[in-house]
Amino acid sequence: MKAGIGVRIHLIRGMSNSYLVDDGTLIDAGAKPAAVLAKAREAGINIKAIIITHYHVDHVRYARDLKRETGAEVIAPALDADVIRGKARPRAPNPLVAAFMALAKAPGVDVDREVMDGEEIMGYRAIHMPGHTPGSTAYLKEDALFSGDAVVERGGGAALPPKMFSLDINEARRSLAKLAGLGISTIYPGHGDPFPAASLSKLIVK
Ligand SMILES: [Zn+2]
Repeated sequence: MKAGIGVRIHLIRGMSNSYLVDDGTLIDAGAKPAAVLAKAREAGINIKAIIITHYHVDHVRYARDLKRETGAEVIAPALDADVIRGKARPRAPNPLVAAFMALAKAPGVDVDREVMDGEEIMGYRAIHMPGHTPGSTAYLKEDALFSGDAVVERGGGAALPPKMFSLDINEARRSLAKLAGLGISTIYPGHGDPFPAASLSKLIVK
């Protein structure tokens, strides 16, 4: 896959999608290290940074292993960082998900750098999109948006993440308005396939 600026983006599937970008960035750590490292070798990419979209286990499961293997810096949303470090408990939208989260915990990983809304890091602009989790953040690189679960793909277009796993689905929906007017062409979601950003408009509440 190619974004408008010509960076190459490799999708590696796992518990969630991981995207390996040829600028040395890995977005999310839900794919097994062996698969990520094989792709990096094949593409000649040296992974320098692991950028996390939010604290859910399917996005951070392999961050610690990958950090150890590559020496990459881990970058994560400020509001989700302590959960990712294993120093705080995730907030769950309901008791069932709370029980699931207690069982399926990711190993804590050192977060080297916390990002806030609007910050630019490694050429990516952080867009804080709370709702799915408190810190949920999408990352914009030129016209490519890595959305984590702030917006996912269903039926070839944009969809809200499952309500059951989202802290506040109404807030998640309101957060989508932040994506209007950013010149995004393609969205690379945490689940499903990349899709055209034009399909977002039906979800954005004005
Ligand atoms: Zn999630």
